[in-house]
Amino acid sequence: MTQQIVIAGSGFAGLWAALSAARAVALAGRDGDVAISVVSPAPQLHIRPRLYEAVLEGMAPDLAALFEAVGVRHIPGVVTTIHADRRAVDATGADGAQFTLPYDRFVLAAGSRLFTPPIPGLAEHAFNVDQLDSARALDAHLKGLAARPETAARNTVVVAGGGFTGIETAAEMPDRLRAILGADAKVRVVVVEQAPAIGPDLGPVPRPVIEQALAECGVEVVAGTAVAAIDADGVTTATGERIAAATVVWTAGARANPLAAQITGEHDRFGRVQADPFLRAVGSDGIFVTGDVARAATDDLGNVAAMSCQHALSLGRVAGHNAAAELVGLPSHPYSQPKYVTCLDLGPWGALFTEGWDRQVRLTREEGKAVKREINTKWIYPPQPDRDAVFAIANPDHVIVP
Ligand SMILES: Cc1cc2nc3c(=O)[nH]c(=O)nc-3n(C[C@H](O)[C@H](O)[C@H](O)COP(=O)(O)OP(=O)(O)OC[C@H]3O[C@@H](n4cnc5c(N)ncnc54)[C@H](O)[C@@H]3O)c2cc1C
Repeated sequence: MTQQIVIAGSGFAGLWAALSAARAVALAGRDGDVAISVVSPAPQLHIRPRLYEAVLEGMAPDLAALFEAVGVRHIPGVVTTIHADRRAVDATGADGAQFTLPYDRFVLAAGSRLFTPPIPGLAEHAFNVDQLDSARALDAHLKGLAARPETAARNTVVVAGGGFTGIETAAEMPDRLRAILGADAKVRVVVVEQAPAIGPDLGPVPRPVIEQALAECGVEVVAGTAVAAIDADGVTTATGERIAAATVVWTAGARANPLAAQITGEHDRFGRVQADPFLRAVGSDGIFVTGDVARAATDDLGNVAAMSCQHALSLGRVAGHNAAAELVGLPSHPYSQPKYVTCLDLGPWGALFTEGWDRQVRLTREEGKAVKREINTKWIYPPQPDRDAVFAIANPDHVIVP
């Protein structure tokens, strides 16, 4: 009887889990014995790392031809319930119909969602760049500002949260506003960060470079106070400061997809499921976790995968390989990703490329931007639908950052 691998999600982790699983099955000469199915709303890869950009075309490349080339079935829909006890998942199809998929191995690759605490007015008035739909809504709103009468609030964007996404979003914003409101418009962009300084998770090493870049981009930073309330006309901070703004962009972190909570075992503060070295969910037979839903050690030094595309690309390959390997009798492969880099887009200033978990500054300005362009237009995009070429880079020990 054909064995079933079901993968929830066609993001970076889900896509590469499917390609890697298909490679392993082919490697074992077991094509036809194992069926690989990906369940997600559409056969698309949403390029979430670029959703802060001004132009949103090309952010959802189609995966249908790629899946077909490697023999992976795409099922439009969303997984709603995981029945670990009877190895099946319930799903709702794109047409609203409910169905159940039995599995021999299940890979949860459903990603993450923006963290939205119960701050007054956040749900009603804040925009975000977390998903393609929300980035499009922000873009439409910004373009609509041109039709409003000029006021300080119209010309002001508050970015709530000064982490990776908040910094990238803010750095783009002055130019983006001027492109809409006119080159001479008096635009104002303010990042509000509750930690004492910008980029708290990026650490102290790259901070002077980030501060300099934001200043050159014309971005103000208000640190040491949180956004306490949001309304249609602006924000109020915890210290009582009022910033008039027609646009508030909320960027304060991510949480694992709620499906992760259905898997028994340990979860971290982001809701991620603790994975063993082979990315099996600890305590749940037959379930692998990968990408933003997985808490996995990257090395023996205590470092843990970030909720990042960089890690998802490798976590996906390992989870997919191991799910298939267990079914076809290949050796499982332990996850390891000791090299860690970051490339932070800083708008017209350029980009900041760092190496290591302490983020040593390696490239800045245009040199950094050239790397960011390479990452954002090539590295993270899906490969061409060529089975042999795909399998040549779908191995679980493929090095993401050389
Ligand atoms: C603005 C922004 C900037 C970023 N910048 C960077 C960066 O510079 N570098 C970096 O490394 N990372 C960056 N990231 C993080 C990166 O995008 C994520 O870590 C990455 O997308 C995680 O990949 P994933 O496959 O785990 O999840 P996702 O990419 O979120 O994919 C999840 C998939 O699961 C599907 N799905 C969701 N729910 C269900 C369900 N119930 N059933 C079935 N399918 C489901 C979704 O439709 C999607 O296909 C950024 C993120 C954002 C939002």
